[in-house]
Amino acid sequence: MTIQLEREEEDWVGDFHRRCIHWTVGRHRSPAEAAVLAFGDCLWRWHAKHPEPKQEGVCVGCGEPLGEHNIDVDDGILVHYDTEFNCLRCYGDIWRRRAVIGLQKAGVLTPAGWVP
Ligand SMILES: [Zn+2]
Repeated sequence: MTIQLEREEEDWVGDFHRRCIHWTVGRHRSPAEAAVLAFGDCLWRWHAKHPEPKQEGVCVGCGEPLGEHNIDVDDGILVHYDTEFNCLRCYGDIWRRRAVIGLQKAGVLTPAGWVP
C-alpha cells in the first residue's frame, strides 16, 4: 500500500526570485527595488493562503467586541469602522507581521528597504 503525502509547501524562495526577475526585467526596476516589490507580492500571496482565523463578534484589529459600525475587510473578518481606520491599520500590521514570519520560515528574508 502506498501512502501519498500531500505536499502543501510552496517554493516561496523560487517564487520570490521569479518575481524579482519580473520586476527587474519586465518593469525596469533596480534589483533593490525589485526585491522590495517582489517581497510585497509574496506577502499578499502568503496572506491569501494563510488567512487570519475568524473571531466571532470580535474586531481583529483591536480585539474588542464589535460595535454598530464594522467593515468586512477579508471574507468575514471584521474590524471597527468608526475608529478613524485605526483597527483597519492594526489588522494590516497583524497580517503583514504574520506573513513576514511565514516567509522567513520558508526561507524568504525581508529585503533591505522594505517598509511595512
Ligand atoms: Zn477594533
